[in-house]
Parts: sequence; C-alpha cells; structure tokens
Amino acid sequence: QRSTVIITGASSGVGLYTAKALADTDQWDLVMACRNIEKTENAAQEVGIPKDRYTIIPIDLANFDSVREFVNSFRQTGKSLDALVCNAAVYMPILKEPKRNPDGYELTVATNHLGHFLLCNLLLEDLKQSSSPNPRVVILGTVTANRKELGGKIPIPAPPDLGDLKGFEEGFKPPISMINGKKFKPGKAYKDSKLCNVLTMRELHRRYHDQTGITFNSLYPGCVAESPLFRNHYSLFQKIFPWFQKKITGGYISEEEAGKRVAAVVKDPEYNQSGAYWSWGNRQKKDRKSFVQEMSPEASDEAKAERLWELSEKLVGLK
Ligand code: NDP
Repeated sequence: QRSTVIITGASSGVGLYTAKALADTDQWDLVMACRNIEKTENAAQEVGIPKDRYTIIPIDLANFDSVREFVNSFRQTGKSLDALVCNAAVYMPILKEPKRNPDGYELTVATNHLGHFLLCNLLLEDLKQSSSPNPRVVILGTVTANRKELGGKIPIPAPPDLGDLKGFEEGFKPPISMINGKKFKPGKAYKDSKLCNVLTMRELHRRYHDQTGITFNSLYPGCVAESPLFRNHYSLFQKIFPWFQKKITGGYISEEEAGKRVAAVVKDPEYNQSGAYWSWGNRQKKDRKSFVQEMSPEASDEAKAERLWELSEKLVGLK
C-alpha cells in the first residue's frame, strides 16, 4: 500500500517537482494542496504524474478559513496522512505598500508562515494516526533566512530579524506590517517568514517529536533561480539572477533536482533526524552529499521559537 503526502504549492517550481519525484517512486499518493486547480491539473499532466496518483484539494494559505476547509476536505477522502510538505510561498520584493490577507495581516508572512503554522497544527492529529513507522513534516527553508551563511547576511533590503516580535505582540494589523513592528520592507518580509518556518519546525520538534515519533525537519534545496518564485521581481533581475547563480556563485540548481532533494528528505531513511535543517551547500557539485547545516543564533533561539508559537496561535485563531 502506498503512503500519502500532502504538498502545498505543488502547482509549480519545487513543489511540482517534489510531487513528480515522489510519484516516480511508485510508493506515494499525492495530495496537491493548491489555490488554482486548473493550473495544478495542467502542471501535473505536463510533468507526467499518472492521473490515478494525485488528488488536488483547494487551499489558500493566506485565508485561514480556507486552510480549515482544506483539512476537512482532506479528512473526507478517508486517506491516512504519512507526510506533509510545507512548500508554498510568495515573494514580492518590489511592493511599495503591503498587501494583506482577509484578517489584515501582511500577505507574505500570512501565506508563508501563518497559513502553514495553522495547517501543521491541524494536521498533527492526522499524522499521529499514520500507520507509517516514520511520519514526517518537511518545511522549506532558505539560505537568506539563515545569518550563519553568506546568503543570510545580504543587506538588500535587510537580513532577517524578528526583533522582539513587537509587530506580532501588537496584533499585526494595520498600520503594522512587519513582525518586528518596524518599517515595511517586502524582501525582508520574505526572509522573516522563512525564518519563522524554521523556528516553527524547531518548536514542532521540541513539543511533539518525543511524544509522537514524527520527524520534523527543514531544508535548503539550493538556489532554484529559474522558478516562478521570482515572477514579482524586476524583469532585469529575472534575466540576470539565473546567470549569476550559475556562473558566479555556483548556487544554481534546477527545479527538477530541487524536487528530488525535497523528496529525499520526505522518504529516505537517512533524513529521519528530527529538528534538523538540511543543506547541500551553496556551491552545487555533482553528487554532493547533504549535511545538517548550522543555524543562526536567532533561528536556534528556543525562547523566541516558543513566543513566536504562542503569538502565531493567537493570530490564526487557535487560542
Ligand atoms: P514557486 O513560485 O514556483 O511556487 C510557489 C507555490 O506556492 C506555487 O504553487 C504557488 O501557487 C503557491 N502559493 C503561493 N501563494 C499561495 C497561497 N496563498 N495558497 C496556496 N498556495 C500558494 O516557488 P518555488 O518553487 O521556487 O518555491 C517553493 C519553496 O521553495 C518556497 O517555500 C521557497 O521559499 C523555497 N525556496 C525556493 C528557492 C528558490 O531559489 N526558488 C530557494 C530556497 C527555498 P500558484 O501557482 O497558484 O501561484
């Protein structure tokens, strides 16, 4: 019998190729959790995922009612849940004013962090009931969210920094747009949201790993410079960035290879270490082995992870 994995944002880029890589093993059924059904259907067919191997269930991660409806719809399928991949994300680096979700929260953080935070919390019950010996939650991280690495030190527009979480403490509604309560910087909102993803993974691990046996981990799959993630950037950036990552930094990786890496973290026995953040390094080499990447002090700050958890619970209506 096949295992079931839910993948958010499987309509393009890394999520789509993760779905493809897992389907290719013939051991996984996919639930593609996406906001555009038709686009996802076309994408699945384009990469050749067999029709009987995937179900598409709608979700808008920025809308918490939709996240709850997704969980209900998933439960109605009667499938058991063996792995969850939190992959969907938005990146809107040249916005002048913040966009907001129905609750008034800044859209990058609402989508990338809060929507996934709620989804993980709701699906914990389902994962606990998995018949798999090693159910897993995999949350996509990124290099620019980790100040321990060069990519995380880039000051354009600013490195990630949640400060004392003042924006969350004060309810995260207008005029607040940043977690630290300071001035709106859209590129930083993305880095902050990805830092929250890693802190959420750490806190899930601390709270639930021993008790449930679920493995919680994150990874940086490499720089997928040609993925549609950069569609909201200047068009010149979109032309130069892949070249720069291929020729100068050596960080470039194809969507297909990135999908294989995520799939490995979902299924391969060597990735069953909970609380780990996996990386293949910043310079890609053929057959390069993965390793557990050291995290910045902020991403390893247990007190901050706990406080972020409590405030996020309030913002999504769990408390
Ligand atoms: P893409 O833009 O190709 O994919 C993002 C996916 O998220 C799409 O399927 C998109 O759906 C979905 N999505 C966006 N907003 C929502 C929403 N509100 N509700 C549901 N789904 C939504 O980006 P990538 O594949 O590059 O990124 C995937 C992950 O990989 C992200 O977590 C990113 O941070 C991470 N990552 C990417 C790197 C890169 O270099 N590209 C490097 C390191 C990490 P739709 O098709 O409808 O827009």
